[in-house]
Amino acid sequence: GAKLAGKNRYQLFDAEHDRTLRVKNESIGRVHQALAQQEFVLYYQPKVNLRTGKVVGAEALIRWQHPERGLLAPAAFLADIEGHALGIALGEWVISTALQQIETWSAQALNLAVSVNIAAHHLQQANFAKRLTSLMAAHPRVPHGQLELEVLETTALEELDAVVQVMLECAQLGVSFALDDFGTGYSSLAYLKRLPAHTLKIDQCFIRDMLDDPEDRAIVEGVLGLAKAFSRQAVAEGAETQAHCKMLLQLGCDLAQGYGIARPMPAEQMPQWCANWRPDPAWGRTSVTRCD
Ligand code: C2E
Ligand code: MG
Ligand code: MG
Ligand code: MG
Repeated sequence: GAKLAGKNRYQLFDAEHDRTLRVKNESIGRVHQALAQQEFVLYYQPKVNLRTGKVVGAEALIRWQHPERGLLAPAAFLADIEGHALGIALGEWVISTALQQIETWSAQALNLAVSVNIAAHHLQQANFAKRLTSLMAAHPRVPHGQLELEVLETTALEELDAVVQVMLECAQLGVSFALDDFGTGYSSLAYLKRLPAHTLKIDQCFIRDMLDDPEDRAIVEGVLGLAKAFSRQAVAEGAETQAHCKMLLQLGCDLAQGYGIARPMPAEQMPQWCANWRPDPAWGRTSVTRCD
């Protein structure tokens, strides 16, 4: 009766669990192979100052140039390797590729800060700062202060002290931090208070809907107020339209990224894009003299 049903249920669960594990192992194997065969590539999305018209940096976003499936976004493969050692290998590939890119751009007189997304699990490795030191030593022509790391608020609060320590060690290298998707984590405010991050990236869900939803707009204003009170920088992500850019300027949020400004693009397209970009006069920014 009940016992047998329970046992069957357990076996069913077990079989599913095995299947999940097998699928996961297969994807880990494929990602491993793709890394060896250099199928990963970084795209870059410009981060701009809407008011001054300056392009202040770029966020590196990983893509998998899959031989059969085409260009894959991170959602298609990152979750499968989360927490696995391979995630760290891939994270190091991302950091060193971004450092290489900063050197290349800087040799072309394009000085862009580059933001790299880093998994919480990676940042929590005991030797993170030491590994970052050697990656940076391998790229000596990267100007000081040009690398930023973006982290999600997924770390348990009890482990924050260790993360704070790592961040302070990285700061010694001139590396700054941004709290990514700010406002969606389970404990944003405690993170804000305890983590020495320079920048808050306001999650795109609040930005996207702020035009029609007064509550989302209030959240954006709240985060901007917090950033100011804590002397942090705020960056809006997901500025999809001209109307978003206009409202961000009205709210006093000058720094933004989003499809309304530029989609993530291959590194080679960045110099030309940066040379051509101008803020739209219709955004109604108060006229300022360009200071770049
Ligand atoms: P994220 O760091 O919050 O990056 C923003 C995501 O929103 C990117 O998606 C970007 O392409 C997309 N986006 C930018 N502007 C707009 C917009 O105006 N509208 C909409 N709807 N979307 C916009 P992507 O590239 O698919 O990356 C998704 C997430 O994957 C990233 O979120 C980040 O958490 C993670 N990720 C990306 N690259 C890396 C990486 O190299 N390492 C790690 N660990 N995570 C990465
Ligand atoms: Mg990010
Ligand atoms: Mg984000
Ligand atoms: Mg995100």
